[in-house]
Amino acid sequence: MHGLKIRHKILLLFLFVSLGPLLVVNLALIFTTQSQLKREAFVRQNLAATQAAERVDNFLGSKIDNLIFESQTSAVRLLDTKDASLNLATYIKGDRDLLDITLANKQGKQLVVVNRSGLIEKHVNIAASDAFRAATFLAGKEYIGPVIYDENRSPHVLIAVPLIKFNQQQDLSHLSTAEFGKYRSQSDITGVLIGNYSLGNLWDSVLSIKIGEQGYAYVVDDKGNLIAHPDDKFRRNNQVVAAVHQVNHFLEGKNDQHQSTSERGQAVLSSSKEISRTKWGVITEEPISSVYKEVSALYRLGISVFIGAAVLVFVLSFLMRKQILTPIQSLSAGADRLGSGDFNYKLPVKTNDELGHLAENFNKMGGNLSLMIGSLKDKNLTLEIEHNKLNSIIKSVSDGIVAIDNNHKIVSINPPAAKLLDRSDTEIMGQQIEHAYQWLHDDKAVQIDYDKPGIYLYNGLVVPSPNKASYVNLVVVILENKTSDVSAIITIRDLTQSRELEVMKVDFVAIAAHELRTPLTFLRGYLELMKNQDAPKLPPDGQERLHRALIGTDQLSTLINNLLNVSRVERGSMEIHMTKVDLPKLVNSLCNQQQSSAKMKNQKLIFSAKEPEITVPADASALSEVINNLLNNAIKYSPDNGQIEINVTRQDDLARVSVKDYGLGIPPEAKSRLFRKFYRVEHSLTTGNRGTGLGLYISKAIIELHHGEIGVESEAGKGSTFYFTLPIYDDAKHAKLVSETNQVMGTRGWLKKDPTN
Ligand code: ADP
Repeated sequence: MHGLKIRHKILLLFLFVSLGPLLVVNLALIFTTQSQLKREAFVRQNLAATQAAERVDNFLGSKIDNLIFESQTSAVRLLDTKDASLNLATYIKGDRDLLDITLANKQGKQLVVVNRSGLIEKHVNIAASDAFRAATFLAGKEYIGPVIYDENRSPHVLIAVPLIKFNQQQDLSHLSTAEFGKYRSQSDITGVLIGNYSLGNLWDSVLSIKIGEQGYAYVVDDKGNLIAHPDDKFRRNNQVVAAVHQVNHFLEGKNDQHQSTSERGQAVLSSSKEISRTKWGVITEEPISSVYKEVSALYRLGISVFIGAAVLVFVLSFLMRKQILTPIQSLSAGADRLGSGDFNYKLPVKTNDELGHLAENFNKMGGNLSLMIGSLKDKNLTLEIEHNKLNSIIKSVSDGIVAIDNNHKIVSINPPAAKLLDRSDTEIMGQQIEHAYQWLHDDKAVQIDYDKPGIYLYNGLVVPSPNKASYVNLVVVILENKTSDVSAIITIRDLTQSRELEVMKVDFVAIAAHELRTPLTFLRGYLELMKNQDAPKLPPDGQERLHRALIGTDQLSTLINNLLNVSRVERGSMEIHMTKVDLPKLVNSLCNQQQSSAKMKNQKLIFSAKEPEITVPADASALSEVINNLLNNAIKYSPDNGQIEINVTRQDDLARVSVKDYGLGIPPEAKSRLFRKFYRVEHSLTTGNRGTGLGLYISKAIIELHHGEIGVESEAGKGSTFYFTLPIYDDAKHAKLVSETNQVMGTRGWLKKDPTN
């Protein structure tokens, strides 16, 4: 069924739906008609058989009664030959079936024989004949002999009755034949009267009984011999038919109706009836074909209807095929074309039914698909262009870009990123990021957690490769959404070249500052000498110029010192000599030194320390530079007549120095940049305060060398508090530190030394 095409399925369905019920109805009709006809046939046959049996029975009964009656006439009974001859000659004339009649005495001697032509003279002894013996010895029973068929004569039968003595007969004359027999005995018998009866008329009447259209009756005797049959020729050739099914059935005493094969080999429905007097049987038969003649007609009608319906079904299925299959086939062809990419193919819309709508929708779907595929193609093209653009951007940017997946595998890398490792991007593709890149900071490996979403900056890292080391800054973007193929993007800025420039610059500054310092020292020496020896001789304006020249050389000296310090900081060559320093004492003395500068602006420097002695491990001169810088700035960047509060406190194991002023303050956006090299807040540029933007940078470097922290708290316009903290001296921690002299401490990441050297 699965492999069948739709048109075959439709045809089968039609056949099943239309012909199935037709078949069932036809069969039911045929079946009921058949059983009805069968019933009717049995009734008909039974009736005919009964009728025929009665006819035979009546015939024989009447012949016996007549014979008995004749036998009781005195001439016959007394064997009076003369009178009996006359009586019997008259008697024979009265019965047209009687062929001849014989009167015999008790010894079997024929006394009178009369046939239809008259008296027969020649007499014989019939003592041995069945008829005589039966009538004399079987006293009490009349005798009916077997049916005799002679050449040229119609079938006939002998009927014999005994002659009974007079005295008894008189008394019994009113009795019936059957009752009469009871009183007879062998000794009462005087002779026998035998009638030879023709059965021609009887058989004609029996065999002419019509049963249905082709039914007939025939008669068998109690041995199964055929004694009457409509086809006498058949009877002559087949006298014994005991073997025929229904005859045998009858002989066994069954006379129900049944279907069998007839004596002539035909399928028949048959029935039988016994002739009670002789135990002969009348058998009626009707050929099945004639019984079921109407059924055959029904069959024919059914088959015609069936064929008609089948033809109709074929025609209908053909029409259906045109109506349904043709659109479905064209739909299927359309789907094939759609499948092969022909989205502009249109199905013909011919009908306004569901199939028409289906075709319309199909066409719409094709149109939509065509549009969608067009737009998809466009999008794909755009994506491809974007992808190419992105690729070329990634390839062309000078920064290295590496993308990794969830397993930290490198899924995308551009040439600059690979160049850091002296390899090609294709070589590194697919490697674990941890294996490919090693990040160092101060010679220590930096561990990056690539699974923690966020944006992370790493500055001043070193990426070693077998032949070189690269100096880089990293931006690591770790994505929140780990479902995509990329989980993190690492941007690597190679600063190796700028570092070299920086180194060159720092070297240049150091050399320049160093070279300037010697002549400046001489200059300042001569100016000091002039001031001490020649100043009183100079006019006031000359003194003023000398004073300015001294200030100028001081400023220049500060700048040169600062520049030297910066270069030391950046090259990591700043030297600090740790000693135990009493912080309040140092700060207080520096405050006192700055009092004169404060006074010039009529400012008050107020020192306070909660504890008189707080010892820290420090380089006193470097620390003084820091404190002086903070004090100078406070004086410089706060107004005249102001107050500056210097405070030394202790918090747990930290010492804290703060310098608070009520001056310009620091705007919030400047705070993060305040400790960078050369940075100056805008207000300090406009207010005319001179400065280099290096003081806080150097201060921070010095404090960090001391393992301390420097910072600022400020509100713009209200003043600022600069502070630093230092660890309190602890023997266990710092004893060794302070005992070592000339200690050089590094700073500022990768400028301090080249790891490859
Ligand atoms: P300089 O003072 O030579 O400019 P510094 O590094 O010492 O350099 O200071 C950097 C900048 O910080 C200054 O130019 C100034 O703008 C700002 N600054 C420092 N201290 C103060 C302060 N106490 N009040 C306001 N601004 C300050």
